[in-house]
Amino acid sequence: MAEPAFSVCVYCGSRPGDHNPAFADSARAVGQWIGQHGGQLVYGGGRSGLMGTVAEAARLAGGRVVGVIPQALVDKELANRACDELHVVQTMHERKAMMAERSDAFLALPGGIGTFEELFEVWTWRQLGYHDKPLGLLNTAGYYDGLLGFLQHSVTSGFMGEWQMGLLQVDTSPDALLRTLVQSAGPGQTPVPLRSVI
Ligand code: AMP
Repeated sequence: MAEPAFSVCVYCGSRPGDHNPAFADSARAVGQWIGQHGGQLVYGGGRSGLMGTVAEAARLAGGRVVGVIPQALVDKELANRACDELHVVQTMHERKAMMAERSDAFLALPGGIGTFEELFEVWTWRQLGYHDKPLGLLNTAGYYDGLLGFLQHSVTSGFMGEWQMGLLQVDTSPDALLRTLVQSAGPGQTPVPLRSVI
């Protein structure tokens, strides 16, 4: 297989969400886009929930799939043996560091507190200058409307700057958002010395 054109880290739910098909549809669209554009998916390495959906779609569309999962979650999140690379690591910190190092951009889909934590961590790393990779939030079916409203409240309350909000690209379209992220990732991004951060 040729070297991937780009590598996108996707954070998303280990659950599928409720009965709104938009969640699975958009996860599938993200995986397909990555595969169809010759890219690599880096993700949490499970087959459960939206994580499994995005990985399967990327693989079926010809994308390279890299999974990184802590040993303790191998059974709980159904470690995906179909990955091109499946890294079973010891800790959550190792997982997140490897996912970040192997990626050119980060994209959060709907998910729960694991997804929130992962997104906020790479966002805070970005604002501190630990990396300069683009970050995206896919607001499928308005799932993140409440969070985005609260974040704006944080800005108007003086706890965040507009420039910090500006570091996060938000869109409802997988195609448009991935295009933006991949274009702004480009070569020349500084490698991330993340292991020294955590
Ligand atoms: P969730 O969004 O809660 O369904 O979780 C999505 C992914 O985030 C799963 O692979 C979880 O293992 C992972 N996760 C859960 N807690 C954490 C954490 N503290 N740090 C990083 N990832 C986590």
